This record gives sequence, structure tokens and C-alpha cells, in this order.
Amino acid sequence: MSLRIRKPSKVERGERFDVVIVGGGPAGLSAAVYSSRFMLKTIVLTVDIGGQLNLTEWVDDYPGFTKISASELVSRFRDHAESFGVRVIPGVEVKSIERVGDSIFRVVGTGGVEVYSKAVILAVGAKRRKLGVPGEEEFQGKGVSYCSICDATLFKGKDAVVVVGGGDSALEGSIMLSGYVKKVYLVHRRDSFRAKPILVEDAKKRSNIEFLLNSIVTEIIGDDRVKAVRILNKNTGESNLLNVDGIFIEIGFEPAVEFFKSIGLEVDEYGYVKVDEWMRTNIPGIFATGDAISLWRGFRQIVTAAATGAVAAYSAYQYIIEKGF
Ligand code: NAP
Repeated sequence: MSLRIRKPSKVERGERFDVVIVGGGPAGLSAAVYSSRFMLKTIVLTVDIGGQLNLTEWVDDYPGFTKISASELVSRFRDHAESFGVRVIPGVEVKSIERVGDSIFRVVGTGGVEVYSKAVILAVGAKRRKLGVPGEEEFQGKGVSYCSICDATLFKGKDAVVVVGGGDSALEGSIMLSGYVKKVYLVHRRDSFRAKPILVEDAKKRSNIEFLLNSIVTEIIGDDRVKAVRILNKNTGESNLLNVDGIFIEIGFEPAVEFFKSIGLEVDEYGYVKVDEWMRTNIPGIFATGDAISLWRGFRQIVTAAATGAVAAYSAYQYIIEKGF
């Protein structure tokens, strides 16, 4: 990875923009690239740069890059946006977005940030749920993964991995991983699955997937990488150490539902922002993109996030033109 010396971007209190983008993952930074190409004065306010890309080590499914480190890809997204004049301000958590007057939005964030804008693009993502067990934080990106679809190929030829969860992601992930590693242990806290039956049946047919039901992971152990996982059978009380090369934690997502509701956004039954195919929310002038939205919920990828970011920027541009700002 190349090291970049960056001059920090600044924002004046009360400064006006055409577009404020909330969130600096692939969706937000892609929206920023497109927004700036539409000659819109654009700022990205974000807690961190990269979003869920920070949860993975390598990326090998983003077109144009056979294999690239996730941090390098994040840097390139950011460089791209900044090269077009976008200001990217990390370390800011946006707390409120409200319409003032007829059409302008006031966006307030931590650190005294207060800006005004004609349109807002929300790209705040959804957080992967964590297990909260010892070793999980320490080995993140070093054998602990939250995305089988993204990282399965990185485990090609390995001896064994654990997948945790009983939903579509865990079952689909186990099936995919069974094609790359010699042994997959699927650890689920119950004995029935919420995943689609067809996925469960498919997984059961694969001789190298072993189901460890009514079981939970209590500890992830390793040195420089994951080496073993401790599993507790809740029915028998038996605790076993499994030697594995990695663990895929696929236990669902948590959208920022309270924040969305506080702004007045409509959400779907899972708490994701409802958008149409142009990324328009129920509030004219606010667009949403990436993992925060109701579309493509079962297929969260960098490339899909980037795609919805581009569409959101285009819609923001159309909105600003139509409003005659
Ligand atoms: P999910 O459906 O919310 O399932 C999460 C699973 O993790 C559940 O089985 C849950 O157990 C378990 N879990 C939650 N918290 C846990 C904890 N702290 N410890 C241990 N286990 C825990 O999440 P998902 O599988 O990521 O799917 C998310 C959405 O995307 C779903 O709507 C899904 O249908 C969709 N999706 C679709 C596809 C597809 O159609 N191909 C693929 C992937 C995802 P319990 O069952 O006991 O609650």
C-alpha cells in the first residue's frame, strides 16, 4: 500500500453546498465522484473513510482489480473524489438533517459541523452485527471476516473455517466456502434455520459442511492470525476447541433505524431506508444509497454500493436542476 500525505479538508460553519453526502464508504465516495462530475459543490461528512471495507483485508471482486488491499481501494476512492474537488471530512457523525425554509437542508454533525445544502445523499451503510466474543476485534481482517461472498476465495485451499449464523448469509456463505476449503463448520445457536430451505438442503448435501447446532462461539484464538475457535454446545454444556484458519461471522446487519426515523425517512420492515429505483426517499431532496437502502438487501457488494451511489448523485443533480436552484 502506498502512503499518502493528505492535507486535511476544512469546512466553515454555516457553509453552503449543493450536495452533502453523509457517509464515506464506497457508496458515499462513488456518489461524491459523480456529484462533482456534475459540477455540484460537494462535501462528504463521515465517521470513517471506507465503511465496511474496513472490515476486510483484500478485495478480489471489484472490476478492474484482480486483487487489491481494501485499504488501498478505499484510498483510491477517496483520491478520486478529492481530485475532482470534493471535500472529505472524516471524524464527523451527522446528528440531524432538517429542512429550513422551502428547500435548503441544514446538516449538523459532531465537532461543531453545521452546513447547508440543496440536496443530501445518505450513505451511512449498515453495520454487520458482531458476536462480541474475545478475539473478535483483535483478529478482524486476520481470519475474522464478516462477508463470505467477499472473502471466500482468500481461504482457497485452507483446511477449515467456521461460519456463524442461521440466516441466508450464513448458509450461502457456507455453501460458497465449501468449494474453497476442505472443511466448513456451520455454527448456529438454534436447531432450526431462518435461511431459505433450499439453501439449508443444499448445505446438508455437501459432505464437507458439518452442522454444529444449539452451539455458540465463545472465543477466537490465534497468534498473528486466527488458529482456533472455542465452541460451546448449549444443550450439553460441552466446550470444544476447533482448529480453523478463519471464522465468518454472518449474523445479520443493523441499520441506523433510529437515525432514519428521526429525520422522517420511511423505512422498510427491516429498518432500511425505502427508496425507488432512482434512490429517491420519501423526502424530496434526500437520497439514500449503499447498504442503508431497502434495495438489493440480500446482495451487499462494493460494486452495488458504488452503483447506487452514482445513481443517487445523478438524481440529486436532476433534483437540483428541476428545482431551478
Ligand atoms: P439474518 O437473516 O438476520 O440472520 C441472522 C442469523 O444470525 C440468524 O440465524 C440469527 O439467529 C443469527 N444471529 C443473530 N445474532 C446472533 C448472535 N449474537 N449470535 C449468534 N447468532 C446470531 O441475517 P442475514 O443472513 O445476513 O440476512 C440478512 C437479509 O439478507 C435477510 O433478509 C436475508 O434473507 C437476506 N439475504 C438473502 C440472500 C439470498 O437471498 N441469497 C443472501 C444473503 C442475505 P436466530 O435465527 O436464532 O435469530
